[in-house]
Amino acid sequence: MKIRCPHCQAVAAIRTSRPWTPVFREIRLQCTDVDCGATYVASLTIDRMLVSSQKPNPRVRIPQGYAVPRPANDDTQQEAAAL
Ligand SMILES: [Zn+2]
Repeated sequence: MKIRCPHCQAVAAIRTSRPWTPVFREIRLQCTDVDCGATYVASLTIDRMLVSSQKPNPRVRIPQGYAVPRPANDDTQQEAAAL
């Protein structure tokens, strides 16, 4: 997964992360463009389960969810390249 700097669109590198709970983590990002130099704090949350764990932690509650449908590669309409 690549996260882009919202200002200059360069890749933002994850420098550190810190867990707050088993399903929430704070992430510190730094833009890799030295002329930009922006740093950010982002968050990562586990929202729902697609397949249940075979080693469940009784203290962790994650709602059962669903997969968001994604189009197959052949569903995208593209013009054929001119030869
Ligand atoms: Zn940037």
